[in-house]
Amino acid sequence: MCTHDNMDLDQKTILLDKKANGKIQPWKEKKTANVSYFELLEILQFKKAERVSNCGEILEFDITQEGRMKLANAWFCKSPLCPMCNWRKTMKRSIQTTKIVEEVIRQKPKARWIFLTITVKNVFDGEALDKSLKAMAEGFRRLMLYKKVKQNMVGFMRSTEVTVNKKDGSYNQHMHVLMCVESAYFNTKGAYLSQVDWTSLWKKAMKLDYVPVVHIEAVKNKKRNKKKEVTAIQAAVQETAKYSVKDSDYLTGNLANDLEVVKDLEEGLYRKRMFSYGGLLKEIHKQLNLDDIEDGDLVRVDDEDSDVEEKAYSIVAQWNWKAQNYFIR
Ligand SMILES: [Zn+2]
Repeated sequence: MCTHDNMDLDQKTILLDKKANGKIQPWKEKKTANVSYFELLEILQFKKAERVSNCGEILEFDITQEGRMKLANAWFCKSPLCPMCNWRKTMKRSIQTTKIVEEVIRQKPKARWIFLTITVKNVFDGEALDKSLKAMAEGFRRLMLYKKVKQNMVGFMRSTEVTVNKKDGSYNQHMHVLMCVESAYFNTKGAYLSQVDWTSLWKKAMKLDYVPVVHIEAVKNKKRNKKKEVTAIQAAVQETAKYSVKDSDYLTGNLANDLEVVKDLEEGLYRKRMFSYGGLLKEIHKQLNLDDIEDGDLVRVDDEDSDVEEKAYSIVAQWNWKAQNYFIR
């Protein structure tokens, strides 16, 4: 951990990263949450604690001729529960997926979109969560291969989310799947799959002895208004791209509880792929030459990668552990 607590803070400027739309980037909030997460890992004696504490500690920005700030250099820990990394990852997922979905709509304007949420029974500890997430990844793969599903499938994006039930301390693991299907799915007799159909297919794919909770909804494009269609799909993209785990679920301020939850989630999420593309969405991801969504670069995540504004100079901001804020060096 690097501490520069002896510097004269009055002489220093606090980092203010404001986007073109006026939105201030939550660096301070995310680093503060990252520090809380680091403190839990340290108590739990995780080896990676120090790595996590270094996450986003130094941020180098380019300042363009027009006076805009762009993150140019930083190191991120990529720990699955890191609030800093998850903020960057969520932005990246959402921007990438928006680009991909726009391209799918361009290539297949008649295709339709459905939004599927598939769940299994809650579990109570890290070991069970690990097993359940592995089984779900396998079950999902099987589900996508069923003829009834495959025959009209164009492609999908899938994200896994784990939430903590505050009442009984259990974990609920579920998958959000935004699927693109041929219009035949809705138009051809026998092609459409109802909620009951999806439920029984998921039950079979998971080899469950109970009926799982499954939601399915069509992403409506009212009046065939193209603008509205993108908006409805965009909402589904946002829902699918959001955090795999909310930090408010393990940074509650109740130390005993937070320690237990972090320990369980670390075990459960270890080496899991929480987000992926399939079919045409996967192909377009490749065509557009987009970075790996899970393990890729977290420095350049926003939409400004194509902009041509020239760099005028750079600044470096550093996290000050004592003052709990970023200051320009
Ligand atoms: Zn991190």
